[in-house]
Amino acid sequence: MGASRAIAVAACLLGVGVGSCQQGRPAQRYSQKMVILGFDGMEPTLTEQWMAEGRLPNMAGLAAQGGYYRLETSHSPESPTSWASFATGSNAGKHNIFDFLVRDVRTYLPDLGIVKKTMPEFFLDFVPIKMPKVTSIRGGTSFWVTAGRHGVRSSILTVPVTFPPEDVENGEILSGLPLPDIRATIGTFYYFATDLSRYEEGNTEMGGILKRLVMDRGVARTELVGPQNPIIKARQRKILAKGPSLSDADRAELAGLTAREDIRLPVTIHWNRPERRATIEIGGHSIGLAEGEWSKWITLEFKANLLVRMQGMVQLFLVRADHELQLYVSPVNWRPDKPLLPMSSPSGFSADLVDRLGLYRTLGWAEATWPLNEDRIDDKAFMDDLLAAFDDRANVLLHRLDARKWDVLVWVSEATDRVQHMMWRFVDKTHPMYDQAEAARFGDSILRVYQRADRLVGEVLERVEPGTRVIVMSDHGFHSFRQAVNLNTWLVNEGFLAIRGRRAEMKSMNEMFLGSGEFWEKVDWPRTKAYAMGLGQVFINLKGREGQGAVDPADYKAVVDDLVARLRALTDPKTGRAIMSGVYKRDDIYSGPFFDNAPDIQTGMADGYRVSWQTTLGGSPPGEILYPNLRKWSGDHCGFDYKTIPGILISNHPLAEAHPRVIDLAPTVLQYFGVPIPAEVDGKPLF
Ligand SMILES: [Zn+2]
Repeated sequence: MGASRAIAVAACLLGVGVGSCQQGRPAQRYSQKMVILGFDGMEPTLTEQWMAEGRLPNMAGLAAQGGYYRLETSHSPESPTSWASFATGSNAGKHNIFDFLVRDVRTYLPDLGIVKKTMPEFFLDFVPIKMPKVTSIRGGTSFWVTAGRHGVRSSILTVPVTFPPEDVENGEILSGLPLPDIRATIGTFYYFATDLSRYEEGNTEMGGILKRLVMDRGVARTELVGPQNPIIKARQRKILAKGPSLSDADRAELAGLTAREDIRLPVTIHWNRPERRATIEIGGHSIGLAEGEWSKWITLEFKANLLVRMQGMVQLFLVRADHELQLYVSPVNWRPDKPLLPMSSPSGFSADLVDRLGLYRTLGWAEATWPLNEDRIDDKAFMDDLLAAFDDRANVLLHRLDARKWDVLVWVSEATDRVQHMMWRFVDKTHPMYDQAEAARFGDSILRVYQRADRLVGEVLERVEPGTRVIVMSDHGFHSFRQAVNLNTWLVNEGFLAIRGRRAEMKSMNEMFLGSGEFWEKVDWPRTKAYAMGLGQVFINLKGREGQGAVDPADYKAVVDDLVARLRALTDPKTGRAIMSGVYKRDDIYSGPFFDNAPDIQTGMADGYRVSWQTTLGGSPPGEILYPNLRKWSGDHCGFDYKTIPGILISNHPLAEAHPRVIDLAPTVLQYFGVPIPAEVDGKPLF
């Protein structure tokens, strides 16, 4: 063993220098090249219309060379599920990603799915001795891992369900969803304003932190709530581990710790009202902004103590500075050059990109959907930010494309998905949130993003070598979300979900996921036969599986059949239309080692109907089962019938198969490089 090799091996054992740790077959030169560009949620009807109208010339040109197809999505037509099926070539029973949420069968509590966390530990409540760890719950094997073992070089960029990044031989990964913000949430934004009432202050339903500004001679002092302090959290866990009956001293200490559990940064805002400007002092920076102006990325450091510091970055947007002052601050993104945990493979890759491209957005859920949904920013600010998010990812793509260190390159942007979630109200004139005046200004928002995507396809086609197989695809399509369906309320009405006493009202996402809220408040489990969770999943409260199961396994099939029949018969009382166009039983759609984690029933809603947010949060608010969706979040795909919500696939090479499925991409890539397709893959090669 040469000295440098010995050093490399030693470095591997120490867990440093990840780039030199890759074992196995060295990269060989494959003459084949393949590029897959994913535009999350790109909808066939819109794509077909705009291609026909000449608005997407590069995609139309690509389709003319090979073909355009509708791509069958996963049974749960959600991005994490569908992209996991894309990566592994298999149904969710084999990869374990059934939904955004994962339930704990014992406690019925949900977790934002996809990852498991191991908490850090501290010696003397000060010195870190065990680093936190995040592991993916995704099972199966990604095609880039299989291909890498055979020497195929890959570049996997911001594909959903690639956080934490896998080790991949001969490859690089830049993580996408569910890479969180510094608070370990999908995206906690901040909003500071002079015109917030005391009642509005606090945490919003979908994860914002709102603070009222009190001006004193043009200056307001407030704070930005950063990450939870890991040392205080560890101390809290130690006390709680003592058991249910705590001493008074322990209780007093816990209360004190809770008050200090977040690391906060002071923020001072100077308002120059005549000039409609503000200067914001935060983390040693002083940022001057005019009304309607965005800042560049501002780096922030959050100190738990001398040894434990967390790095993040934010963008500020001065919403208003005329007769009120309103300031929006983005979720605290991880810094790609100083991430909290590795966010790329090799781990230095995310930082290397900063040297070339500057700081770039890292949050998996990169677009500002929640602040728009809560009306804290307007359509214009949302679109400006969304296109900036798109460009950040596009810059990474073009840079890696030119680096030519790949045989297969996969890249995904979710800007197409997010713009449709928020702007579908302009596509569907029957949507309760359709507004003619707004439509005149922002009705082309979705088209603008599709055209930006089309230009990127053109740029990619110009850069790739002749003969490169190019595939443009989406993981699912879109439907209108006009009516929200309170599935749990319906289950209560039908006698499947039992409640003790008066039912709880509305719940908020922050309460639920940061631990202060009570999920399933007042549910009487021993009398409950079924419950809905996540976005279109129904579970039977099965004895021997659920913590307080009530349905005997012998009755399982009968209860499922009964529920399926009732769901199929569920109609909109106003129109008489069926709310579901399909209802699917677990046993008919899933197979594999994670079968037991599957929902017993997957809904297949018809266009216009989506599960209510309250159902997702375990709520069963009293009242109507259906209510009009009066939020800007107006388009969706979750919980809809997978048969009616395909994605798209455009290839510069004709497919051998007229009805491609998302599970077919993995075996297609493997076969293209001559790599044996593993037996567990459900899909079939498309060429
Ligand atoms: Zn989506």
